[in-house]
Amino acid sequence: MSRVVLASGNAGKLREFSALLAPLGLELLPQSAFGLPAAEEPFGTFLENALAKARHASRATGLPALADDSGICVEALGGRPGVWSARWAAMRGGRETGDADAANNARLVADLAALAAGGAVDRTAHYYCVLVLVRSPDDPQPLVADGSWYGEVIDAPRGTGGFGYDPHFLLPELGLTVAELDAGTKNRLSHRGKAMRALAERLREARLAGAGR
Ligand code: IMP
Repeated sequence: MSRVVLASGNAGKLREFSALLAPLGLELLPQSAFGLPAAEEPFGTFLENALAKARHASRATGLPALADDSGICVEALGGRPGVWSARWAAMRGGRETGDADAANNARLVADLAALAAGGAVDRTAHYYCVLVLVRSPDDPQPLVADGSWYGEVIDAPRGTGGFGYDPHFLLPELGLTVAELDAGTKNRLSHRGKAMRALAERLREARLAGAGR
């Protein structure tokens, strides 16, 4: 089995990505196993942040590395919070500690309420995830895959599953928020699940094409 380092300390992501990559003969190791702290995410695009994280992990470990970057993009807010999803409340001087998810959701609901005061507001939003796999820090051909998941932002939270913005992210065709889905259903439908399956496909293609991966 070839070893790949995951540029994240998130145990849930390690589990999900490992299950996807094991059938391809790849063993995923968390960057924490190498004592690596999280990399900076200073860029304005998900792709640049994921590439930076993957390069950072590959450079520090000498192994191929996989990184992801994700967030929620709200139409009426011009695509924000976007790359700033994890830090949305803190960026406005909100709480830096404690329940970041609750603070982020409170800011998002307030953002839309402020717009709604001027008339009807478009509540369409999508989750977005991009994955980047590099064989080396200077890999000229990183493998890239992404996925989106569309829904609407609602004011009143519903459900206890998932994390982040899930209790406020309604799937109109199901009449449920993402926090009301079981984990298996979320993985099947989600931006991350779509990106993961697309990456597996890219890996198979790259191997078939003899690109040395
Ligand atoms: P990251 O992919 O760990 O950088 O996550 C970025 C942020 O986007 C998270 O902290 C959440 O606020 C948000 N986010 C990403 N994916 C999801 C999801 O599946 N549900 C809810 N929030 C998400």
